[in-house]
Amino acid sequence: MRYLSTRGGVAAANGAQAILNGIAQDGGLYVPETVPLLSDAEKAAIARGSYADAAALVFRKFLPEFSDAQINACTAGAYTDTFDDARIAPLVPLDTGTALLELWHGPTAAFKDVALQALPRLMTASLEVSGLRKKIAVLTATSGDTGKAALAGFRDVAGTGVTVLYPKDGVSVMQKRQMLTQRGKNVAVLGVEGNFDDAQTAAKTVFGDEAFRARLMAKDCLLSSANSINWGRLLPQIVYYLRTALQAGGTVDFIVPTGNFGNILAAYYARRMGAPVGRLVCASNRNSVLTDFIRTGVYDSRRPFYRTLSPSMDILISSNLERLLFELSDRDAEPVKALMAELSKNGRYRADARMLSRIQALFAAFCVDDPRTEETIKTCFWATYRLIDPHTAVALAARRASGFENAVVVSTASPYKFPRAVYRAIAGRDETDAFLCLDRLEALSGLPVPKALAELKTLPLLHTKECAAADIVPAAEAMIESLL
Ligand SMILES: *Cc1c(COP(=O)(O)O)cnc(C)c1O
Repeated sequence: MRYLSTRGGVAAANGAQAILNGIAQDGGLYVPETVPLLSDAEKAAIARGSYADAAALVFRKFLPEFSDAQINACTAGAYTDTFDDARIAPLVPLDTGTALLELWHGPTAAFKDVALQALPRLMTASLEVSGLRKKIAVLTATSGDTGKAALAGFRDVAGTGVTVLYPKDGVSVMQKRQMLTQRGKNVAVLGVEGNFDDAQTAAKTVFGDEAFRARLMAKDCLLSSANSINWGRLLPQIVYYLRTALQAGGTVDFIVPTGNFGNILAAYYARRMGAPVGRLVCASNRNSVLTDFIRTGVYDSRRPFYRTLSPSMDILISSNLERLLFELSDRDAEPVKALMAELSKNGRYRADARMLSRIQALFAAFCVDDPRTEETIKTCFWATYRLIDPHTAVALAARRASGFENAVVVSTASPYKFPRAVYRAIAGRDETDAFLCLDRLEALSGLPVPKALAELKTLPLLHTKECAAADIVPAAEAMIESLL
């Protein structure tokens, strides 16, 4: 299967190349040339088999150059004994017509694990498929959860090094501690001044630095990304939507707490493959750039950036939207290129009427502010005794507003990743000690704290480097090289 750039400026790649490159050289994102349709037998197999087997089936459809043995090694390694729930993505009923799809049972307690347990394995297999003997330097900007999940996924994977850039004042206490305590010989973490968009922009600058790439090449090293611009991040996320929809026995609407538009886009691809997916609801926090876009067709990033209770969605530039624009313009790169050029020049663009009506036929959008988020955590707990994290709460509030029947709310993080916000919402008062919040919430709810979060209290802080906005690019490049 060939992969195209959404901006049409590079030759088609195969899946292995798309995964290794991360982003296309013309600045576009890779998309598969055709979206494979599932046969009835394949649908049945995805619904009934183990999670790892379902993932293997889906990966094979998109990566035909990989051998069955290579694919099976990826999926068995990623989804056997790595999650604290053998179902990987359990669907838990909440109330009439609403269920939670819990995606946070992996090693770092956020949904990013589902993809980032698979991605290092897909990357090493991609090297084999391409016959390359190279090292891989992974650079990732994070709004909180990707960074830790990438560190955990790539930790001590032979032939790789991983460098994470995070906004030093823009992540939760637990998220920060998770990253600063990361062990492993091939990991580096840098706290940067600014917000996620600044970190992401710096990462993109490093990717575009030809001289730097040449320096790495001279050392037999490729530069790649673990962000959801990488097709290898999106592909594993399609699996849980397919499985959930195919197991449901009816059409399912998904409500997805959205930031970079990666997770919800995976649901779109599941629909294209023939799963009974109905409407997709994009739930945003106060940074409502996507809600406004889906409702009006105007994407305008020139607006204040708010720090919210759901920091992994504090984003104004949603990279993966570009893939949707490409799909909905009948895979014509020209209009996409023009819109992206407008975005980088003027900070805004307007989709034409045809595009907007196609978007609105598939997607609905709601934004939810912090008071509503807290209120939702609180009422959910006292009605069901179930703790939900602030990202999930944004989606649950959007679900209530949508009025759809048979909705699955995508639950993207363990409530214990955001213990202060969750405690405040439920108890009605602040407690600054995050670990005390963990204990109290555990006592209130009976939900066990994941071991990986409980132990953060005593682990040593290993990565305390921070840098000013102007120095991010050289500091990141030096870190990447130091891991070679
Ligand atoms: C990353 C993340 C999101 C947003 O997902 P996107 O794919 O960026 O839209 C939502 N919730 C949590 C907890 C996350 O970590």
